[in-house]
Amino acid sequence: MPLMVEKISEGTVIDHIKAGAGMKVLAILSDAYPLSKMAALIMNAHSRKFGRKDIVKIEGVFLDEKIANRISLVAPSATINMIRNSKVSGKRQVKMPDTLTGILKCPNPMCITNLERAETSFLRVNDRHLRCRHCERLFSPEELA
Ligand SMILES: [Zn+2]
Repeated sequence: MPLMVEKISEGTVIDHIKAGAGMKVLAILSDAYPLSKMAALIMNAHSRKFGRKDIVKIEGVFLDEKIANRISLVAPSATINMIRNSKVSGKRQVKMPDTLTGILKCPNPMCITNLERAETSFLRVNDRHLRCRHCERLFSPEELA
């Protein structure tokens, strides 16, 4: 008997999050959307693909591109399901973009983007590294998320 967590009629289900990364996805969501939105985190669900996975559900919210990009940093394998009228109306894979502009903060305190009002921009070098275009330092996706 599968564990049923309250179904949502309108909103987003983020599935196939690597087990343990669900909290980070939830942190990104609570940073981006008002706390009044109902969200649920299901940890260590069974997955044929991963063995164990986390699932995050958020009611009344459809993720914009910037938030989906941030989520790709902590959950590169995640699938985003859009729910309308209690049915899956759209499904897509998150994908780490080649450049992330204006949404992340550079962890280097001496970076110009932290000293002046310069827009941050990071280039994806590979799945494990992104480079700040301003200070040229390399960071892991988790450091930036
Ligand atoms: Zn920087």
